Amino acid sequence: MRMNMVKKVVIVGGGTAGWCAAAGLSRLLGPMLDITLVESADIGIIGVGEATIPTIRAFHTLISVDEQAFMRATNATFKTGIAFENWARDGDRYFHSFGTIGKSPWMAPFHNIWLEARSQGFGGSLDDYSLETKAGLAGKFQLHKNLPINYAYHFDAVLYGKYLRSLSEASGVKRIEGDVTSVRQNPETGFITAVTLASGAVVEGDLFIDCTGFRGLLIEQTLKTGWEDWSHWLPTDRALAVQTRADTPVTPYTKAAAHGEGWRWRIQLQNRVGNGMIYSSAYLSDDEAEARLRGLLDEPMLNEPRIIKYGAGRRKAFWNKNCIAMGLASSFVEPLESTSIHLFQRGVLHLVQNFPFFGITDAQVDHYNDVSSKELEYARDFVILHYKLNERTDSAFWKDRAAMSVPDDLQARIDLFRETATAYQGPGELFRVDSWAQVMLGQRLEPRGWHRLAGLMTRQEMDGVFDGLKKTVDHTVAQMMPHDTFVKQYCPTTAA
Ligand code: FAD
Repeated sequence: MRMNMVKKVVIVGGGTAGWCAAAGLSRLLGPMLDITLVESADIGIIGVGEATIPTIRAFHTLISVDEQAFMRATNATFKTGIAFENWARDGDRYFHSFGTIGKSPWMAPFHNIWLEARSQGFGGSLDDYSLETKAGLAGKFQLHKNLPINYAYHFDAVLYGKYLRSLSEASGVKRIEGDVTSVRQNPETGFITAVTLASGAVVEGDLFIDCTGFRGLLIEQTLKTGWEDWSHWLPTDRALAVQTRADTPVTPYTKAAAHGEGWRWRIQLQNRVGNGMIYSSAYLSDDEAEARLRGLLDEPMLNEPRIIKYGAGRRKAFWNKNCIAMGLASSFVEPLESTSIHLFQRGVLHLVQNFPFFGITDAQVDHYNDVSSKELEYARDFVILHYKLNERTDSAFWKDRAAMSVPDDLQARIDLFRETATAYQGPGELFRVDSWAQVMLGQRLEPRGWHRLAGLMTRQEMDGVFDGLKKTVDHTVAQMMPHDTFVKQYCPTTAA
């Protein structure tokens, strides 16, 4: 497969994925490309997707986003991790932090030393050794050159799109508002040649990026790429989203609290809170879910709950002919670990690194699809882990999740951790060893053994290590500002 030089890029869709693609391509390859983005005001965007992970900062650095300007424009707050409530058992709480836990010698990660201490009745909680956990739970945040804190953001998805649009247009992206009503293809190759709008306008291109959301207008409706269904592992298929007032100081972390048939999120911005309920319609009706959500909200609602239907899975190819699907058009893994925005930002950067300047080749398409599939599957498996390792007995939903078989790679990781406390981050994988350890331990996976490097220390030396690490974290958190005080100084909202 080969076609002519690629210069004209047409992005269809102006949600977060569309504007990330536009901003990435225009800010990194701009002068060499001719980029048009088509979006429909009538269809609008999904308007959720407000929690991120630290990799977003690398994307922003590459496309020269000014952090303070971006945060002011999007009502953003800082996020140091995710607090999981009721996941293994009702009443449990653990924190998946973005930072490192304790100090890891080369021989084995810190959680091995902590497991040894715990077996001897000391060492406290793993949380005591994580700056991001302790700062998050204390409602503290600050940026300072001597403060090694890892973080991401919560922001308003609609305003983030607008912000990226302003960057993209300043870098030469042409924006056309209108509904795409038909798609033209080369009759011999099937390659897309143009999209036609309701106005009759025709937008031609060499490469098309499908960011049309769940409908997958180009990748599926036109190219019939096919869908791989993952609902047997991730059966939730509904979200109810609602905004509430922000009456309390910001919690600088995402809350993910399990309920009888799924979980709910709470994401606090500068001016409001985003709330949502994730559930499976096979186990809970929409009416029951809505009643449950209303009963669980902490603050008064600013709008009525809105239902979003979805399915877990992915297109059989992300890149098919001269069309690349990004965002919801390409795949969906529920937002438990806030991975979607990360995944399409990776897709944008991967495209920038492998741009088909001289024409599209099979090898290039295969490589892109292979890398993107693996990255998505790693994220998927990490999310499945939370469900698989539950001990809840209150509903068929949770019992079925604990009983399900999981992908082989994931089962092997679970077995390895159960036997030896070994967690690893393979090449190209998103989640760090500390992420796997925090979630596995938080989900009550009890290792039968661990690396006994702590046996090289006396009890007194171990006490010294734990004490020193804990004191450093506590001292640092005590010095930090309340999150809201810092945000008011650093990036107070300018958004309406
Ligand atoms: P959309 O926002 O749906 O945009 C589609 C675009 O295509 C729109 O501009 C629309 O107008 C346009 N379009 C469609 N058809 C046509 C047409 N015929 N002609 C012209 N234009 C058209 N991700 C995270 O990283 N963190 C989270 O916390 C998170 N939470 C989520 C919660 C829920 C409940 C869901 C469902 C998803 C969540 N996600 C999250 C995922 C995240 O919302 C999406 O990945 C992100 O918003 C990207 O969406 P999109 O741009 O692909 O699609």
